[in-house]
Amino acid sequence: MKRNGFGTALVTAGSILLLLSGAVPARADIISVSDLPGSSGITTGILSASEKSETKAGAETTYGTGKKTVCYTADTSGSQKKSLADYTDEERYKLLFGTDKKLFTVDDKPAGFETKSAALGNMTTVKVPCYLIDSRGAKYPSSRNITVHKALAEDVKQIFDEIYALPEKFPINTLVGFRWNSRGEVSGPFLETVTCMSAHAYGAAIDINMIENDYYVGAGNDLRDPKNPYYITENVRDIFEAHGWHWGGDYAICTDTMHFQYTGLDMLSYNNGSPFKKYELTSPQQSSTLIRNMQRRLEKLGYYKNGIDGSFGKGTEKAVKAFQKDHGLKVTGRTGKKFYTLLWNLTNEMYDK
Ligand SMILES: [Zn+2]
Repeated sequence: MKRNGFGTALVTAGSILLLLSGAVPARADIISVSDLPGSSGITTGILSASEKSETKAGAETTYGTGKKTVCYTADTSGSQKKSLADYTDEERYKLLFGTDKKLFTVDDKPAGFETKSAALGNMTTVKVPCYLIDSRGAKYPSSRNITVHKALAEDVKQIFDEIYALPEKFPINTLVGFRWNSRGEVSGPFLETVTCMSAHAYGAAIDINMIENDYYVGAGNDLRDPKNPYYITENVRDIFEAHGWHWGGDYAICTDTMHFQYTGLDMLSYNNGSPFKKYELTSPQQSSTLIRNMQRRLEKLGYYKNGIDGSFGKGTEKAVKAFQKDHGLKVTGRTGKKFYTLLWNLTNEMYDK
């Protein structure tokens, strides 16, 4: 199935903005963040209803070799109404929050989501089937619990039933739905501070196999290993998309390959803050997918030799300092905008397939 061409993002020092354009910028445009055109305001809307309404009531969709029926909800009269996949962006906000579509921020949360406990009142935990991998590498049937918005629970169960039935027996080692963070859970490469809330805080986003499917920055920078059994497969993406969910791997900047989201991409718009997250040696050490990604690049250039663990330890600090020294940057051991831009530019070519 062809990828939906949405989520092209523009970055400025003060804001990150997701646009509707289907075009993915050239790599150089993505990486040289300071060269990107300025922008203001926040886009709203993503895919039009017509773009998302390929599936019709009763239709069957094929994923790989398995045939699956798309999930529908029945209204009180017993007749079929449209699937959640066919909801417009506006209808999705009504469904989840009972409000008109808008960008919610940490200072302006939807009613009923002001606190973690209030948000949990809108959630339910469902058990979904999945495969796990034993110590000898064999897949075996199991299940995992996931907490999501009540309105999405049946659809989420259906999604994971379909994933479970895939011929590849897709294994799931980490699964996160609802996740609360009072400062907003949105994060990613280059994001220092944000004010908008993540769809995870509303139970409308799911992260799958987050170690093996991490963030990266821009096309050509995907460092994931397609041979890893936990790598998000095309079939998995197709199932989510058939249910109207968006894949974070389609975001042109801050590509988030573990992430699936039911609400529009505008909820991943970032504003009010430097997009460059600063890391340095701290106690306890900081860990993130960005650090993991950074280590891989420093390792590729010969600066880092301590193993890719995503933790900013002494070895990482040493590598950052050596890289800064060699490239005429101030030797601080702390990552910043110039550091990221140089490192990503230098390693971009190496990972260009
Ligand atoms: Zn996520």
